[in-house]
Amino acid sequence: MAQKLKNNLEKKIFIKTFGCQMNEYDSNRIYDLVKSINYKKTDELDKADCYVLNTCHIREKATDKVYHDIGRIKKNFRGRKKPIIVVTGCVAQAEGDILLDREKYIDAVIGPQSLHKFNQIIKNIEKKSLQENLTGFDAKEKFDTLNYYKNSDSSVSSFLTIQEGCDKFCKFCVVPYTRGAEFSRPINELVKECKDLVSNGAKEITLLGQNVNAYCHNEKKLSSLISEISKIKDIERIRYTTSHPKDFTEDLIDIYRSHNKKLTPFIHLPVQSGSNKILEAMNRKHTVEDYLEIINKLREVNPRIKFSSDFIIGYPGETESDFNDTIKLLEKIEFINCYSFIFSPRPGTPAAKLNEIDHNTSKKRLVIFQNTAEKIKLRYRRSLFNKTALVLFENKVKNKDEFFGRDEYANSVIVKTKENLKGKIKKVKIKSGNQNTLFGEIDNKLNERNFAA
Ligand code: SF4
Repeated sequence: MAQKLKNNLEKKIFIKTFGCQMNEYDSNRIYDLVKSINYKKTDELDKADCYVLNTCHIREKATDKVYHDIGRIKKNFRGRKKPIIVVTGCVAQAEGDILLDREKYIDAVIGPQSLHKFNQIIKNIEKKSLQENLTGFDAKEKFDTLNYYKNSDSSVSSFLTIQEGCDKFCKFCVVPYTRGAEFSRPINELVKECKDLVSNGAKEITLLGQNVNAYCHNEKKLSSLISEISKIKDIERIRYTTSHPKDFTEDLIDIYRSHNKKLTPFIHLPVQSGSNKILEAMNRKHTVEDYLEIINKLREVNPRIKFSSDFIIGYPGETESDFNDTIKLLEKIEFINCYSFIFSPRPGTPAAKLNEIDHNTSKKRLVIFQNTAEKIKLRYRRSLFNKTALVLFENKVKNKDEFFGRDEYANSVIVKTKENLKGKIKKVKIKSGNQNTLFGEIDNKLNERNFAA
């Protein structure tokens, strides 16, 4: 009877996440909040009482995607009681008023730093149907509130936001306007949240921040935080993203020298361009030479380290020679993974006022860039065949006797097995692979021996 009453009171929430890992973390935390007011997650679009669109503003047409999704929800609910619609994330922050004005079906826009007020907003909407716009910037208040709610993410590989916002003001980027100034959470709070994640089954933690290596709380930097988190017994792996070259300080390089066994030898370090002229125009605050110096130092302290990066192709003012410098850098470093996009002006950023270069030229350059990057990636992946990788297994592949995991370099690896490998690290002999996935066999002989990563 009590269970029946509970089920009747229970409401359903559908959370759609766009964009980066920080949004994934935020979506998890939104769910931790709404559970306390009796909402349960659903994957069925037409069953939800509340929809959350957790948006990303980095790419073009982000706002259009929101209108498109709301159009679908409207269609699904034609002739029925309207569900609550909340838009969160960076589009909410950057274009909240425009969204509310244009789409009356939206009940609330909540910026990333106001997420902790989510339950209050839902209750307000349930009582009265006025549109709400919450786009303040109080990261401290947000995390102080979220700390009352245990992080219930139960993934083997979990995200932990340690830092938010950015003070760098790269001319193309909206983050300083949507996430506000740099804010770092206290170490003790982060260690506690990490322990919660471990108690839920996490073996790998990815520390997140828009400028993660700018982390600094009470003069403790990212290197100190990594050392503290490494002490948590059941954590096997630590990653962090996204770093800025300017904040890649000696202490962070040193931590690789100390052979911290839990820190993976894989660093995502966006460079954006291989031309000093373009880096300056972007206000990146570093040169190609600075970047190469960091890479060289890291390789010196640990030759196993590999890199991935982000590139913007066709930034205003980019000449053929600037572009060729970017290709040279790509080939020199041999990034094992690259994320590359044609420059797209984000409203409200200084770069949006610049004259764009010819779009066809940008498109051609992007093709050249991506073909070169793919060749490097393929070469790297082939070099892994018949070698052994340390794989942390995350989940069974649906409807197959296969298990999915990732190696230290975040490469996806699949093995055939009937065994439940969730949360285990195994040595895997890589047999084949394509651009996205490596396929291997568990090397039982090697796994019999005791090994250290
Ligand atoms: S450092 Fe990164 S987050 Fe900050 S403004 Fe530049 S691109 Fe944006």
